[in-house]
Amino acid sequence: MPHPPHQSLQVAAVPPQPAPVRERDQDVPWHTEAVCRRDEAGLFFAPSKEPTAARLSREEAAKRVCARCPVMVECREHALLQPEPYGVWGGLTAAERRVALARRRRRDLELQKAARAAGTIAAAG
Ligand code: SF4
Repeated sequence: MPHPPHQSLQVAAVPPQPAPVRERDQDVPWHTEAVCRRDEAGLFFAPSKEPTAARLSREEAAKRVCARCPVMVECREHALLQPEPYGVWGGLTAAERRVALARRRRRDLELQKAARAAGTIAAAG
């Protein structure tokens, strides 16, 4: 299972830069282009009993790293599909991913309902 490495904490202090827009080489696994490093896990994952203010500050720092990552979309999708229950992935916290997943499920249900209704109308017509 790919697991993005995490960089040193010093990288998080760099002001956020927009992620460069470019085509990815699809033959290369997305996590090989991650800007974070495995040894930076402390920035992306909460230590036990982390105070709220410290958590919010740490998550914002992690999101700043994600904001300049060229594989943010791939990372986010990976975390939503697995799903990854902990940490900041693709610029989203675990709570934000739960909300995104709930919205996605609701949208899928509405699409299925609409498709069934359209099928019923077509069959009756
Ligand atoms: S989006 Fe964030 S967590 Fe994902 S690979 Fe990039 S820097 Fe790491």
